[in-house]
Amino acid sequence: MRSPPGVGWVRIVSAGLGSQVEGGWIFVKVLVLNCGSSSLKYQLIDMSDETLLAKGLVERIGIHGSRIKHVKVGMDPVVKETDIPNHDVAVKLVIDALLDLHHGVLKDLSELSAAGHRVVHGGERFTSSVLVDQEVLKGIEEVIPLAPLHNPANLMGIKAVMNALPGLPNVAVFDTAFHQTMPPHAYMYGIPYEHYQVDRVRRYGFHGTSHFYVAHRVAQVMNRPVEQLKIVTCHLGNGSSITAVDGGKSVDTSLGYGTTEGILMGTRSGNLDPSVMIYLMEKYGDAKTVSDVVHKKSGVCGISGISSDMRDVEEAMEKGNERAKLAFDMLCYGIRKYIGAYAAAMGGLDAIVFTAGIGENSDLVREEVCKHLEFLGVKFDPSKNKVRGKEAELSAPDSRVKVFVIPTNEELVIARDTKELVLRG
Ligand code: ADP
Repeated sequence: MRSPPGVGWVRIVSAGLGSQVEGGWIFVKVLVLNCGSSSLKYQLIDMSDETLLAKGLVERIGIHGSRIKHVKVGMDPVVKETDIPNHDVAVKLVIDALLDLHHGVLKDLSELSAAGHRVVHGGERFTSSVLVDQEVLKGIEEVIPLAPLHNPANLMGIKAVMNALPGLPNVAVFDTAFHQTMPPHAYMYGIPYEHYQVDRVRRYGFHGTSHFYVAHRVAQVMNRPVEQLKIVTCHLGNGSSITAVDGGKSVDTSLGYGTTEGILMGTRSGNLDPSVMIYLMEKYGDAKTVSDVVHKKSGVCGISGISSDMRDVEEAMEKGNERAKLAFDMLCYGIRKYIGAYAAAMGGLDAIVFTAGIGENSDLVREEVCKHLEFLGVKFDPSKNKVRGKEAELSAPDSRVKVFVIPTNEELVIARDTKELVLRG
């Protein structure tokens, strides 16, 4: 993650596509891709003024019933149902949609300057975003054991763009990269050191692009240099993590080696005594069953027995459902504990940021977390808390610790990094 370069046109020498102008090449539009094993989310961003031009989702790749949903900003969404056997076909459909006469946003592919790809795991090798070359592809492949569900899909997306648009520069932006500044005492687990050396077992953390964005954005909103701030960022979605950002750098984060540690999530357990895993494995026989329990059947869903969706759980809680209330309380208590722990870890706290689906929308969660934090210097103002999905300050003017909602924008970070790396060449 880097700061955006200066505004204005920059001429560079590049081998990529892009708009030719007399004597040079200007950087214009970035295609941002987030590929899952059966899905592909995309955005086209005009980097001359950072505006979103179009976005969409390709669903059920390789499965019966595949389709692409495309939105040109300012127009109604369009949907096309068609056979999409693989990511190569998916990327071709995205390109067709972007070039379409009615709902397209590109006249010509030369308007496209680069593609930026979300890659879930960069291991210890990728500490920042990189221009993709064969070495980088190999590096992402080597990390597959750490993210067996995600990195292969991310790679398929990059390769599909390389096939469809040869010559277009590609940039990989890693979810783990922002957390590579954590000190060893925060990222090591207390198991034999060999498991770090041989098996690469340590805390990596995830949602780094989101934590980076909201931490830097809140500093702008507060009109303070991020280097001088101690911030706790709460990314609360289906998957959730909390990060301690000291001076603009991640110094600790609640997700760890995999994606189950930390606070209660939609279907993931959060912190669990390892003895519980051992007990369950001995009782039920295999790792797969227990993996399903902690990844897919736990969390808010497993406790409430209602849903992984916080809206359903809050609705049930308000109707008096006790298990829904327990799930809600466990979530908020967990968030509060992390905020306290990270304030102690950083030796102070200037701001708390809420982001992602729950953080941006749930006034109930935000209030329950913050109303107990007065001892830390948080003066929460409930009258400012009825906001959904937009930037807002929730703390009183005299609150020593500020509380904000900052909607995340991972795609913009990816597009900015892509622009910067491609311009640097
Ligand atoms: P993902 O991790 O899949 O990107 P999101 O950031 O989209 O997840 O967040 C999804 C979560 O946000 C769901 O649990 C959903 O219930 C929750 N959410 C969305 N809107 C609201 C709302 N108005 N109130 C409470 N929770 C909400």
